[in-house]
Amino acid sequence: MLSDAVINIKGIGEKFAEDLSEMGIHTIEDLIFHFPYRYDVFEIKPLSELIHEDKVTIEGRVLNAPSLSFYGKKKSRLMFNVEVENVVVRAVMFNRAFAKKQIQMGDTVTMTGKWDAHRLQITVSNYKKGSAENQSNIQPIYSVKGDVTNYKLKKSIQAAIKDFGEQITELLPSNYLTSYKLPNRKNAIKTMHFPKDRQALKHARRRFTYEEFLLFQLKVQLLRKLNREASKGNTQHYDKKQVEDFISDFPFKLTGAQESSLSQILQDMKSSYRMNRLLQGDVGSGKTAVAAIALYAAITANKQGALMVPTEILAEQHFQSLTELFGDRANIVLLTGSVKGKKRKEILSSIHNHDVHIVVGTHALIQDDVFFDDLGLVIVDEQHRFGVEQRRTLRDKGLHPDVLFMTATPIPRTLAITAFGDMDVSVIDEMPAGRKEIETYWTKANTFDRILQFIEKRVEAGEQAYVICPLIEESDKLDIQDAVDLYHQLQDYYQSTVQVGLMHGRLSSEEKDQVMQQFAGNQVQVLVSTTVVEVGVNVPNATIMVIYDAERFGLSQLHQLRGRVGRGDKQSYCILIADPKGEVGKERMRIMTETNNGFELAEQDLKLRGPGDFFGKKQSGVPDFKVADMIHDYRALETARQDAQEIISNNLLEEDPSYLPLRLYIESDGVYSQKLD
Ligand code: ADP
Ligand code: MG
Repeated sequence: MLSDAVINIKGIGEKFAEDLSEMGIHTIEDLIFHFPYRYDVFEIKPLSELIHEDKVTIEGRVLNAPSLSFYGKKKSRLMFNVEVENVVVRAVMFNRAFAKKQIQMGDTVTMTGKWDAHRLQITVSNYKKGSAENQSNIQPIYSVKGDVTNYKLKKSIQAAIKDFGEQITELLPSNYLTSYKLPNRKNAIKTMHFPKDRQALKHARRRFTYEEFLLFQLKVQLLRKLNREASKGNTQHYDKKQVEDFISDFPFKLTGAQESSLSQILQDMKSSYRMNRLLQGDVGSGKTAVAAIALYAAITANKQGALMVPTEILAEQHFQSLTELFGDRANIVLLTGSVKGKKRKEILSSIHNHDVHIVVGTHALIQDDVFFDDLGLVIVDEQHRFGVEQRRTLRDKGLHPDVLFMTATPIPRTLAITAFGDMDVSVIDEMPAGRKEIETYWTKANTFDRILQFIEKRVEAGEQAYVICPLIEESDKLDIQDAVDLYHQLQDYYQSTVQVGLMHGRLSSEEKDQVMQQFAGNQVQVLVSTTVVEVGVNVPNATIMVIYDAERFGLSQLHQLRGRVGRGDKQSYCILIADPKGEVGKERMRIMTETNNGFELAEQDLKLRGPGDFFGKKQSGVPDFKVADMIHDYRALETARQDAQEIISNNLLEEDPSYLPLRLYIESDGVYSQKLD
């Protein structure tokens, strides 16, 4: 059986079986699915197409008996001439004295090695006697460990497929194989290890790419469905008319993308399952407006709402803008760590007795001593840790609210549907009309004087600027010192013409508040700051964003910072001061100057960093695919996602016998025991 230990394969003894188990290969199936990580392709090209210093394969006739010379302690060099396309090419082999006897004048040899186009010489790493025709010219290269060699591994896989290959069964219903022209599982496995040609290999890879994506999508979507079924009981009967009235009081018309996201959210709220949705939208795309409407809908359903944000500054800003938007439609309170004593007690009791409709605050607002009367909707802004733990806290208080996550870090669609497969996703991919594109420039530090003059001009025109200082860790004293130094520098430079403010994480929340208010009220025109202004801060009169040492930031963070300007109707500018050493750093700066579109930028970032890095290793939630590549195989991912959707929503796993192998496979993976609560 395929699930038997590898020791049952002919030619694999105890020692080798042990070595394999060190590599995580225990069963015959493990071995068969240990695919090569790359292939050496021996493809003979005309001499004229060979590139200097490339690894190449050539075929020719040996012109003379090889000459062998020794040097150093045990080193040898074997040399002979070969005729290739009527040209004499020199072949050199190091430390293969034994080959002297094997290679004779007149022989045809096929050799692979590094090509020296100037000397017409090949340094041979691999050779075969005879012509390359009729030989498989694609060699599998496996990842190996310890005493396991590529050769031994290849031989044992060959033996395993020979004796047990017939037991490999198909997982996919045959209609998928037909319509996507995929090879069956057994043949595809053989081809992965021993490809006849590139074409066959391509199709085998296509097959496993699809299979991996489909299995993954089936799992996450099934999980989502099971969670929905388990979480029945939160129907919010909101008042459609009142919600429409609320929207019509806005000073603007919702964009199409805002409308469709909103209708998805309202749909979730109305339905009996608990919403678990991610709302994505670039900075300034109008997520907050959508959030406010959803909160209002909850109120009309006689529920309470909570808006959770990562910092106190943001909590205050949101509190203010919601208070303005809602007028006397709702009683809104601010609950942060700095609300203490009697005031806090009063707020807590009015939350408990439902005098309060909406609570805005940092994440403490769902914890400890905070009790809601009937919490219907929680909105979590900006990459908050809000997961199973927080849900449990709420459940322990008898609450099962709908949850909406909002993020302005555009997540490439590819990642969103894999990493967040168990969440629904709404995207605001359209900006409110009339926004001017932010002009972005990249310069070296020595133009700082000119930048300061430019700021001065804009300030004279009534505008404002941010100057962001590099900061890696909020708690790092040195970095704050940078901001303080820069602040003094600018004060010296501008004297009394321009008021300069300073903002960093070490200020008390009163101090921060004061600085922010001065900036928002234009008493301060230039704000020197660390990245504490990164998220959410809204001062529409600010038109210039200068980012010092921009190479220290990632693309997404730069984009977030840039999003602090361009919020009004005036032309805005982003100036990146950076002198990146590496190519990736330079590429980042170029991308920033070329696009304002957060999603496009995120896709580029993903390409520069790779999927594992995108969210930070730990929380990535991105599975390790063996064959599939989320970036390159994006189309297959999309296809698999749609197919999985169809399978799940039509109950095919349960009801159609041709899906039984898929179902058994997924069940054996324990999806059914991974539900949230
Ligand atoms: P986000 O939260 O996505 O960064 P906001 O909701 O803060 O964006 O909106 C940014 C600005 O655009 C706010 O001043 C808001 O009033 C305004 N705004 C939001 N939606 C629209 C719209 N549909 N048309 C015009 N302006 C809008
Ligand atoms: Mg609901």
